[in-house]
Order: sequence, then structure tokens, then C-alpha cells
Amino acid sequence: MTITLRPAPALLSSTETQEPLLAMIGNTPLIPLRKIAPDLRPGVEVYGKAEWYNPGGSVKDRAALWMIRDGERRGLLRPGMRIADATSGNTGIAYATVGAVLGYKVTLALPENASPERKRILNALGAELILTDAQQGMDLAIRTIRDLVASNPDAYFYPDQYNNQANVEAHYQGTGPEIWEQTDGRITHFVAGLGTSGTFMGAGRRLRELNPAIKVIGMQPDGPYHAIEGVKHMATTGMVPGIYDPDLADEIVEIRSETAFETARCLARQEGLMVGISAAANVAAALEVARRLEQGVVVTILCDSAAKYLSDRFWDEPDSACVDGDGI
Ligand code: PMP
Repeated sequence: MTITLRPAPALLSSTETQEPLLAMIGNTPLIPLRKIAPDLRPGVEVYGKAEWYNPGGSVKDRAALWMIRDGERRGLLRPGMRIADATSGNTGIAYATVGAVLGYKVTLALPENASPERKRILNALGAELILTDAQQGMDLAIRTIRDLVASNPDAYFYPDQYNNQANVEAHYQGTGPEIWEQTDGRITHFVAGLGTSGTFMGAGRRLRELNPAIKVIGMQPDGPYHAIEGVKHMATTGMVPGIYDPDLADEIVEIRSETAFETARCLARQEGLMVGISAAANVAAALEVARRLEQGVVVTILCDSAAKYLSDRFWDEPDSACVDGDGI
């Protein structure tokens, strides 16, 4: 069955076509994962969407561009204003990348223990960083930015990615239809990690509309304390994103941090794919789903590359678990 999509409302305004770097956001490759799971039944295919092909290096470029363009359309972001948000990760890098192209300065609050790689990337892109007490985590970073914006609302645009529908829309209009077309409408299962849940909600909802039989599966860590940067354990987080609707999920798969590390090593050593920890966790969840199937096309998101995680020690572990595809 192949349904041809109506063209999505243009992501790219005329400015994007004049800005080659922004025109490179989206339309990322879909990579078949074959060697990592030789035990899958012959009719089962698994694919990962290579989101590090976005110019800022992650899936969050999509959301940042849509939230910034949406802010401009609504008159909330005007020339001379700064983009301000609390993020220690990819969203900050995405704001700084898009902001640099469009001429907006960026202010980010982040816990002081954010990785040196991240701080260096954000500094290199010219973002202003407000480092907050590590003990108080992202909650303090969020409060700090909210106070800053409230103190001078005309100077700042606060996208608030956890509660901004433009974050979902980026994936409803981009990621979802791209996956549909790249699989010729054959996708049967979509697996995505839950951070803000923008990817899961937007792409999942669009794919479900295109074919109601598609199973939409969320990936989350197995508890509140975990090493899968960028995703949340929804049942225990103090801050459930406003854009998250748990009813969309057919199933939630929980992945241990150790399993994510092991899968990251196997992806590197068997597929030549150097991906980040949440991408590896997504693949682990996709394989868990794929192993139950007689037939199917399982697609997941490779949120970013390994570049920002290279100082993590887990890369140094032996690869015994992935020699023959067993054990993961
Ligand atoms: N993985 C990584 C590395 C991320 O930075 C994010 C964004 N927080 C996600 C996964 C989850 O994406 P989303 O916010 O769309 O749920």
C-alpha cells in the first residue's frame, strides 16, 4: 500500500531557501540496521533515521527552527530580541545554530555540571551561558530563565520547548512524512524516546493518521536515575511536558542505561554507526519490538551522533555482547 502525501505546508519560508544551512534541516537519511540483529526473522526490517545529518548535529534542529519561525510569525520574536531557554543539550545547540544564521543572540541556563563538550560547542556558537547550581538540576535552570525573561519580557523570546506545539509540528510536518515516504508507506512500528516528547508526539501522530494500524511505541529509561541523556522517565519526573499525551502510545519500552551503552558499542563495531546514548537506547527498544515480529518494518530515531559522548568511559568496555548479535 502506498499513499502519496499531499505536500506538507512548507517548512521552508523564502528565507530558508536563501539560507542554505537552514535548508539542510530535515530530510535526513534512513539507514537499515542489519548486522546488529542477525537473529531477526527474515520478514523483519529495522531502520534508524540519522538525525545527526542536521547541521546542528541532532534531531532538535527541527524543533528549534519551527519554534523560532513560529515565534516570528506570532510577533513574539522580533529583530534585536534574544532567544532564552533552559537546556543543557541539543536544543541549546540548535537554538545557537539557527540563531547564528538568523542573527538572533541566544541566552541559555544550564546546570554547571553539563559536559565540557557541550559548553565548548555552545561557547563556539556564541551563546551566552548562565551556569546554575548542579545540585538543583534542570529545575533551577528553568526557574532562572523564567525569572530572567519575566524581568525584561521585551528583550527575550522564551520558546519553552516542553509546552510549545511548534515543537510537535516540526515532526508532524517533517519527520513523520519523511519516514512514510522513505519506507514507501510500509512502516509498521515507530519507536521514539521521550524527552520533550516532540518527536514521539508529532511523528507518531502523523504516522498513525496515515495508517491507523501503525504501532507507536515510546522509549524511556527504566527509572528516574539513568544515563540516557535527553530522555525522561515520565512516571517519576516532576515535570511532565505539556505537549505529551500518554494516550498516543500503544506501548512504552523501558531501557536500562547499561543496555543503551552496550547497544552503542555494538552499533559502532558492527554497523559502523557512532551514535549517542539515547539513539542507542532507541535501537535497543526497536530491536526488542522487532524480535517479537514475524514480519514488519520498525523505524526509530538516531537522535544524535557519538561526538558529544566520546569522553564517556563506556566506549572502552569489551564488545563480547555484540560479536554474534546475542545478549542485547
Ligand atoms: N535524545 C537526545 C540526545 C535529545 O537531546 C533529545 C531532546 N531532549 C531527545 C532524545 C528527545 O527528543 P524529544 O525532545 O523530541 O522528545
